[in-house]
Amino acid sequence: MTNKLQINNPRVRFAPSPTGYFHIGSARTALFNWLVAKKYGGQFILRIEDTDVERSKSEFEKDIIDGLKWLGLFWNEGLEMGGQHGPYRQSENLNIYEKYLHQVVDAGQAYYCFCSEEELEAKRQDALSRGEMFRYDGHCRSLSSEEVQKKLKNKEPFVIRFKMPEKKFVFNDLIRGKVEFDGSLIGDQVIAKNFRLPLYNFTVVIDDHNMQITHVIRGEDHISNTPKQIALYEALGWPFPIFGHLPLILDENRAKLSKRFGAVAVNEYRRNGYLAEALINFLIFLGWHPEEKTGEGAKEVLTKEELIRQFSLERVQKAGAVFNVEKLDWLNGEHIKKMSLDDFLEQAVSFLIPVFGEKVADNIDYLKKVLALHQERVKKLSDLAGLVGYFFALPDYPGELLSWREMTKADLAINIDLLINLFSNLEEANFTKKQLEVIVMPEAEKRGRGQLLWPLRVALSGAKNSAGPFEIMEIIGKSETLKRLEIAKKKLSNG
Ligand code: GLU
Repeated sequence: MTNKLQINNPRVRFAPSPTGYFHIGSARTALFNWLVAKKYGGQFILRIEDTDVERSKSEFEKDIIDGLKWLGLFWNEGLEMGGQHGPYRQSENLNIYEKYLHQVVDAGQAYYCFCSEEELEAKRQDALSRGEMFRYDGHCRSLSSEEVQKKLKNKEPFVIRFKMPEKKFVFNDLIRGKVEFDGSLIGDQVIAKNFRLPLYNFTVVIDDHNMQITHVIRGEDHISNTPKQIALYEALGWPFPIFGHLPLILDENRAKLSKRFGAVAVNEYRRNGYLAEALINFLIFLGWHPEEKTGEGAKEVLTKEELIRQFSLERVQKAGAVFNVEKLDWLNGEHIKKMSLDDFLEQAVSFLIPVFGEKVADNIDYLKKVLALHQERVKKLSDLAGLVGYFFALPDYPGELLSWREMTKADLAINIDLLINLFSNLEEANFTKKQLEVIVMPEAEKRGRGQLLWPLRVALSGAKNSAGPFEIMEIIGKSETLKRLEIAKKKLSNG
């Protein structure tokens, strides 16, 4: 594949705000940045943007970090890893922001604003009533320095606003192409609540500059922040990075993905039995498509290595990307099929132990056989426990379940006796799927397949749906098979 974009040694970052659990949208942003670093030989940096003191929580930061590690999106620089451009948690970087806040205030590029919340709210309402969008009217722009000093001396509360230049801001978005914003419609933004409480649009610029970020790739919900940030770069005399805004993620109704949609937390997908590799494979299609051709390029089930090989920023789409759960389930099943049995075992155990206890892993060979039987069929690891229970303990089931259509109890009992006889005479070593078929199938043809195989399968599994009887018998072995058939017999005579 040719990459028209010439990107060399990019420095990209994932800069989450720990104000909520790590969600699908953030994971997708992290993935795209990680891929750009991998694809174009760059560095992937993790920075925590925790300037919102009230909403930022260390449990959310931990959740984000755990989620990134689970997805295998490891970073080269940043939190936990260190690097030359730290600190990588914004709350530890306040002195730097304070220095630059003074710089822009002293240069007259930003100013103290003493307007109260009430005054601003009244102006907001007024604009609304005229059907206009509210934009700060610059009231405090024109305060004289004496007035400012007096208010500061009187300890009047203030915020710091940036003087937004009334000009056009144009940038070439990697994904959306040429994007234009009119600065005069934006108004003067609050960039800090005070010198120790800087806000996102300010800190992001300082950090992206100081960390030498070359490409800012983030969700489209940030696109309206971009002109505000470019204006700050220009005020500080810094070149701005290249921006790329990933399309919105939509639900099936083409509405923006929200909490109402159901699971949006990455950890929920993990708990629900999705594989990290499948989720990655799914997330990449939320905004990107491989080249349509034959061979690897047309494949939808992709490993991380294949993704890195195929990824290119040119193929990131502008249009919103629909989150389709069925596709995720399908991809997950496909990735489960591709795993080695040992890997599958490792992943499966953590879903089985909470249901069946540690004993489930006592006999690994046995467990492996059970898992091998289900690896091709299962879509989610969390479905496994519900499918394999009867291999560990026969559930209590109603005797009527043994009956195939209108079979009488007497006929059922005859068939079960016949099966007990057949298996009793078979040596343990011949208890294989093949051998069992050889001796049972001729009888099944004589007596009716359903009449013989249905009660056999129910006796073995105690379930309406299960794996086939021969496969079950090969795994549970002769004595357990006979034991279960005796139980079935008893149910018939008791019922
Ligand atoms: N902290 C911002 C967020 O979590 C990051 C935005 C950006 O990438 O610039 O949405």
